[in-house]
Amino acid sequence: MDCVFCKIVNGEIPANKLYEDDKCVAFYDLAPQAPVHFLVIPKEHIESANVLTEENAKVIGHIFCVIANIAKKLNLENGYRIVNNCGEDGGQTVKHLHFHILGGKALSWPPYDKSAEV
Ligand code: 5GP
Ligand code: ZN
Repeated sequence: MDCVFCKIVNGEIPANKLYEDDKCVAFYDLAPQAPVHFLVIPKEHIESANVLTEENAKVIGHIFCVIANIAKKLNLENGYRIVNNCGEDGGQTVKHLHFHILGGKALSWPPYDKSAEV
């Protein structure tokens, strides 16, 4: 399977890792969109949030605990954003479930400009 995040899990391509255990890996994003921008992914290849089941979704709770621990280590006590892009309209480019963690500054909201509607 030609999946860049599976290759990071397998060590086939390098990543600047923050954390790893038997279920997930956290690493810095290659193209940071905030002063702090890292990703947390399950080791299991799950295509997106849209194919979650009661079984394969158990890792999500674990990932959120990992995120909270890393945020403490990185001194993100003022807050951060957890983002999951799902599918084409969601802007997902890598088809392996992942959570973006963005922080280190106050982030703008919302992500969608209604005034652009016709
Ligand atoms: P998406 O657009 O699918 O939500 O996010 C994919 C993210 O993965 C992007 O922010 C992109 O910069 C990051 N990314 C893609 N390929 C690599 C890679 O090989 N290494 C790292 N560290 N990040 C990657
Ligand atoms: Zn994968």
